[in-house]
Amino acid sequence: MNPGGNPSAPDNDRWALVGANLIDPATHSVRRGGVLIEGGLIVAAGPDVGPDAIGTAEVVAAAGRYVMPGLIDTHLHLAFDGGPRPVERYLEDGIDPGLPSRMADAARMALDSGATTIRDLGGPDGASFELRDRLLHDRLLGPRLVAAGLVVAPPGGHCHFIARLTADPTDLVDAVRAQLDAGADCIKVMVTGGVHTPGSSSADTYYDLAALAAAADLAHGHGRRITGHATNTTGIERAILAGFDSIQHGSALDDRLAGLAAARGLIVVPTLGTHAAMKEHLGDPGIPTYVAAAAERGSVGKVHAVRAAVTAGVSIAAGTDGGVTFVGHGALARELELLREQGLGAMATLAAATSIAAIEVGLADRIGRIAPGYDADLIVLERDPLVDIRALVRPVAVMRGGFTHAGAALLQPAGGGAGR
Ligand SMILES: [Zn+2]
Repeated sequence: MNPGGNPSAPDNDRWALVGANLIDPATHSVRRGGVLIEGGLIVAAGPDVGPDAIGTAEVVAAAGRYVMPGLIDTHLHLAFDGGPRPVERYLEDGIDPGLPSRMADAARMALDSGATTIRDLGGPDGASFELRDRLLHDRLLGPRLVAAGLVVAPPGGHCHFIARLTADPTDLVDAVRAQLDAGADCIKVMVTGGVHTPGSSSADTYYDLAALAAAADLAHGHGRRITGHATNTTGIERAILAGFDSIQHGSALDDRLAGLAAARGLIVVPTLGTHAAMKEHLGDPGIPTYVAAAAERGSVGKVHAVRAAVTAGVSIAAGTDGGVTFVGHGALARELELLREQGLGAMATLAAATSIAAIEVGLADRIGRIAPGYDADLIVLERDPLVDIRALVRPVAVMRGGFTHAGAALLQPAGGGAGR
């Protein structure tokens, strides 16, 4: 434990949070009790974490507060700045010497907002994988990062400037293999076109079913998950039938496709915040005209898609698409608020950023739960997020692997004096 925010705390610390309301979305449970942490892992949680279990461990009082697993943002872009012209800025700056520190700052913003794990779904291989490796070992630096590195797309296709390019659908599997060899944690294929690339349209579908299925088989054979950027119905259906683990956006998901997705166990990451941000900023002269036009065309799709997914019982994971036009880093609470507004249940909304998100990023055995053996990634809230999802906006404290980050000064050791 590190109540004062002192980054020198040892990682074999043994400490306990007590008197809290523990929310574990995976089991749909809210229990009064404590969490005992040792070596960065949860060793016990619940009403049984009393004086006997705690022993000589340092005790931090969290009376009346709400403790839940650290949030997981399953979709962002650390290399983009979330301004009016993130793609143009990235292309103008190129991979300049300042990029790694800007990416680290963006990751840190996500952590401060409560995201103890983030997944980058499109950025330069080198800077993405280097930051991922640094963050893996340094729990004080920022959140855990799961990184796709480059996406896979056709030349000139959606996000081609951060893509491993495939000139021909039959080459798709080779591009996926190259990305696996480069060290990608997961594979992202642009199945369709999208908003944030000039000349790209959401109506375009890039790869046929056979190519997508071969790509999925290869990724799974390497123990990696594969997700597809898929906005139109053709692309969504192909991704589902090809055996992809999830789709991003899914703007045209209708009742039929939602039923298919639910039956196949596919996860949908709606990224509603991108749509909301464009709506708020429509008419802003800084937005490139191709983005504004595309956003206007596709403006209502995602809302219907989420409703169809909720009705069909599709698993929904939260992703901000942080970094794209007017979506700043650290906006996961806003995304959850939008999902809640579209009818996702209160506990399901919390699961979308914890237990379901953990499955989506391939770490369901390590994060996203308050249970023995899981990483001590936790957030402490003043109010009950099941009553008001906006309780997530300013966590009292954010802990990754047992270390306290944002808001550390608000958490005081019980009885005083026991803390360092
Ligand atoms: Zn994205």
